[in-house]
Amino acid sequence: MSIRLSDIAKHYGRAGRALEPVNLEVAEGELVGLLGPSGSGKTTLLRIIAGLERPDRDPAGRILFGDRDVTDVHVRDRRIGFVFQHYALFRHMTVFDNVAFGLTVLPRRERPSSGEIRARVYRLLEMVQLERFAERYPAQLSGGQQQRVSLARALALRPEVLLLDEPFGALDAKVRQELRRWLRQLHDELGFTSLFVTHDQEEALELSDRVAVMSHGRIEQIDTPDALYHAPANRFVFEFLGDVNHLEGEVRDGVLTCGAARLRTSLPEGRERLLLRPHEVRLAETPSPEAHLPATVTAVSPVGAEVRVELAADWMAEPWLATLRHADYERLGLTRGQRLFAVPRRWHRFTADGRPQPAAPARAAAA
Ligand code: ADP
Ligand code: MG
Repeated sequence: MSIRLSDIAKHYGRAGRALEPVNLEVAEGELVGLLGPSGSGKTTLLRIIAGLERPDRDPAGRILFGDRDVTDVHVRDRRIGFVFQHYALFRHMTVFDNVAFGLTVLPRRERPSSGEIRARVYRLLEMVQLERFAERYPAQLSGGQQQRVSLARALALRPEVLLLDEPFGALDAKVRQELRRWLRQLHDELGFTSLFVTHDQEEALELSDRVAVMSHGRIEQIDTPDALYHAPANRFVFEFLGDVNHLEGEVRDGVLTCGAARLRTSLPEGRERLLLRPHEVRLAETPSPEAHLPATVTAVSPVGAEVRVELAADWMAEPWLATLRHADYERLGLTRGQRLFAVPRRWHRFTADGRPQPAAPARAAAA
């Protein structure tokens, strides 16, 4: 079932706008992530789609599921499944009864027979591999298992739309990873349409067909993970989708100066702010005529495919992060306290109002 929002806005009393008028289209069978910092309006948008919250009447926004206008349809009649971080299971009910609950409270005409309910619940528990736990109570399950029960419960009524609000937020990293895979599998297998809220960029990028990046009640950009990363619509998206180092200073006579840091450049004269991803920073033992950016290693983390190195210097407003190949890390013999030089390979620039300017390789990259 496709979802189409047009001009959906929300004020909470006089507290100001939680949502600017939002337009959003989610195709049938698509999994879309809503990604943004806390307070950016993700939950509000999801609750409005669910029918748990009313959008403002001015502008008169509409919500369509397929061809059906559900703007004024009660939450009960929208046929939506929910999974919320704090949408707790019924503690006094077994796993089986939790999953069966939605079916058992259907009006008699719509309610399947008890045999059919049993079969359906067991099929769902099999999907989330919890059939052996059917008679347990929520307190006897781990957090990850409880969220799998929540997922099964949400799917019991065969919703065409599944809404998830930070469903894995309370779980540790490894379990989250596993549940992401569950969700993606169930989504593909059962073919529903999903909207998934998270403030975790990695989770959004890994799981979603497309991601809507939100800030201040607005959708800044909606795109595939690849397009968001490589062609951000503005500075906010660029900064939100990964670690960023800043180099801000004055350009004069082809040199950008920022305290003790100097970078040769062909940029126009005046104030400039350059942004660099951690993999766009090379580390060297000596400065070059092109780049003189002295820094001290404050932390080294050699865990994973790359080595993460944190740098500090007087001229930095915030510490820089560089990622190195293990071979370079060993060649430099990096240790905390070591003094070296950062060398930009390339950098990104945005206009004062945040629009991207063509990224450019740094002149020093040739070194
Ligand atoms: P997110 O889920 O992205 O963290 P929310 O949708 O919860 O953001 O909140 C968006 C904005 O609306 C925030 O400024 C928040 O304080 C405000 N807000 C959310 N719910 C309410 C409410 N019930 N009453 C008043 N303000 C609210
Ligand atoms: Mg929220």
